[in-house]
Amino acid sequence: MLLEQLKHLDKHFKYRQMAPAGRNWFDVLSGSIPVLVSAPHACMHLRDDHYKLPEEYTGAIAQFLAKTCECHSIAAHFQSDEDPNWQSDGEYKQTIADIVSTHNIKWVIDLHGMTNRYHMGVAIGTMNGKSCNPSSVVPAFTNAGFTLVSVDSLPPRYEGAPSREAQMNMHGNNHLWRNLVVDHPRFTGGLISQTVTRYATEQLGIRAAQIELASINRVVHSSANDEWPYEYMGDEAAIQSTVQALQNLIISAGDDSLKTIRKIHDE
Ligand SMILES: [Zn+2]
Repeated sequence: MLLEQLKHLDKHFKYRQMAPAGRNWFDVLSGSIPVLVSAPHACMHLRDDHYKLPEEYTGAIAQFLAKTCECHSIAAHFQSDEDPNWQSDGEYKQTIADIVSTHNIKWVIDLHGMTNRYHMGVAIGTMNGKSCNPSSVVPAFTNAGFTLVSVDSLPPRYEGAPSREAQMNMHGNNHLWRNLVVDHPRFTGGLISQTVTRYATEQLGIRAAQIELASINRVVHSSANDEWPYEYMGDEAAIQSTVQALQNLIISAGDDSLKTIRKIHDE
C-alpha cells in the first residue's frame, strides 16, 4: 500500500524535463504543523556546468510526508538549472524563507539520496550538532528499526561507479539498510557546502537536519535509462521503516515546536 502510494506520487515528477514556461520547477504543499520537508534534488539539477542525476523518490517521499503528517513540503518537480544545496541563494531558498516566515516554521528536514555503496541506509547531517542536536533526530530512526553505528565500523565503500553488485549487496540477509550514521564526514549537512540545512540554520535561525537515504531505503522502482542501464527496486521493509522514521521525526519535531510556542506564550 505505502509502496503503491509512493509510486503513484513519483509518477508526477518529471526527472528529465524542464518546466514549461510559466510553471515553477518546484512544488510546495502547505500543512498545519511548523515543520518543512524539502527535497531539492528530486529531479536532474545543474551543478558546475553539468546535470546531476535525480535523487529518485525523495520528492514523492516529501509529498507523502506532507499528506500524512500535515507538515509543509517543497520538492523539485522538474529538471532545473539551480542547485539549492550548492548555491548560496536562488528561487528555492527564497521560497523556503517565505514559507518559514509565513508559517512560523521551526524545523527544516532536507531529504537527499545517496547510493548503497556506503553500506549505510541513512546518513543524518547536523553540521556536527550545529543545525540541531542529534539526540532530537536519532530516536525517531532507532524506534523504527535502525541501528546507530559509527563510521569506523562500516566496511570501505565500493569505489568507482556504484556497481550492480554494490547495489544488490545491500539486499542480503545482513540488513545493511538499517545502519544509521550521524555526521558522516561526507554527509555533514553543510560544514563545507552552501546546503539547505546550513541556510535554515545560519540565515533563518531555525533547526534543520540533512537526511541522506540510500537507494535501497527509498527507490520503489526505477526503470533502466541512459545513465543507469538496469532496473532497480529497493527493499520493501527498508522503505517502510524509512518512512516510519521520518514520520516519527516530523511528529516529534512538530510537538517540540508546539511546546516551545506554548511555553513562550505562557511566560
Ligand atoms: Zn542531494
